[in-house]
Amino acid sequence: MKILVINAGSSSLKFQLYEMENESVLAKGKVERIGMDSAILSYEPTGKNEIRQVEEILEHTTAIRKVLDWLVHKEEGVLGSIKEIQAVGHRVVHGGESFSSSVVVDEDVKQEIKRLFDLAPLHNPAHLLGIHAVEANMPDVPQVVVFDTAFHQTMPSQSYLYPVPMVLYKKHKVRRYGFHGTSHAYVSDRAAKLMQRPLDELKLVTCHIGNGASCTAVLNGKSYDTSMGMTPLEGLMMGTRSGDIDPAIVPYTMGKEELTIGEVNSMLNKHSGLMAISGISSDMREIVQAMGTGDRSATLAFEMYEYRLRKYIGAYAAAMNGIDAIVFTAGVGENSADLRAAVCRKLTFLGLELDEEANERRSGEERRISTDSSKVQVWVIPTNEELVIARDTHQLISDRIDVV
Ligand code: ADP
Repeated sequence: MKILVINAGSSSLKFQLYEMENESVLAKGKVERIGMDSAILSYEPTGKNEIRQVEEILEHTTAIRKVLDWLVHKEEGVLGSIKEIQAVGHRVVHGGESFSSSVVVDEDVKQEIKRLFDLAPLHNPAHLLGIHAVEANMPDVPQVVVFDTAFHQTMPSQSYLYPVPMVLYKKHKVRRYGFHGTSHAYVSDRAAKLMQRPLDELKLVTCHIGNGASCTAVLNGKSYDTSMGMTPLEGLMMGTRSGDIDPAIVPYTMGKEELTIGEVNSMLNKHSGLMAISGISSDMREIVQAMGTGDRSATLAFEMYEYRLRKYIGAYAAAMNGIDAIVFTAGVGENSADLRAAVCRKLTFLGLELDEEANERRSGEERRISTDSSKVQVWVIPTNEELVIARDTHQLISDRIDVV
């Protein structure tokens, strides 16, 4: 079965085409700057060079059509016909309390995604555009949605409720939802397999550290607590997001600097984190490079970033009354040996021993970076959210075909 995986943003759209028989990627790419006369389409058939085209693409329906055109292109295509695509899987950021697993798209599901616009105003409207764009181009192809929040729906109420008036939860659904769920689920599953232990007997802390970053306590295979909250702003310090701060800073700063709600939101989401403290960049590579030249702001930014992550790991060890393994994933987690070393060197009280050589080894592969005698294992596991979306889509569509 061939499955197209789509991650639609407001002005961009990423895609991967999977052959599920061997879970291989046949082609991938993205369309950026949708809505402009100079949109950029990149298309890469596996094993061949990437092709880039700059052209006018004003909306998502056209973007999907252009992608499909490339997939069946005479020389560069990987399909004989569009009809070979049997299903499309979409990433959807917010599933609220309505979705605790992936589902096949129907009118009710679309309505519910729409109802959740309020909770994810930057993401859910774009995902719905993607779903409609696929419908317009391939009206008979079933679609599946995979939610970033779904994995975290197992959190107990003590984890997901905030100590604020209950009316806010009852009336407005103010609670912790958590994000990056597809990634936390994938790496915890992989960790159990690599450790050769049943997932439902493990206490894991999974650290998805990319531009956005979150940390999850995975207890017996289920999300028990996670650092992102009602929105992806809470928790760890990130590239441009503040993570946890005293909420009183918001009204105080608004008063002192005469900021609007929009401005304070933008300050905390786009002008904080590594960027704000270093004054250099939100990119960990540039921070580490600047530290090498003795830059004190970069060093401070790194120290704060590491410290806040380490505190969360400690908190989750306490939350689960122990910890069997820590998993690092995503851009920074997979690539920054400096960050992993800084975190692990100060967790020796847990009986954790870092294998310094394994940590430094550059490889894009799954590997253990703790010593044989370490009481807590540490793993680097590259995440693969697209594969999870393809698998869930495959599963749901196969079940449907079986029923029919
Ligand atoms: P996103 O959250 O956008 O999906 P990624 O998971 O791709 O992001 O992570 C992107 C980030 O990973 C970059 O901003 C950069 O800080 C970091 N990164 C990538 N490669 C390295 C590296 N070799 N060393 C340190 N950080 C890296």
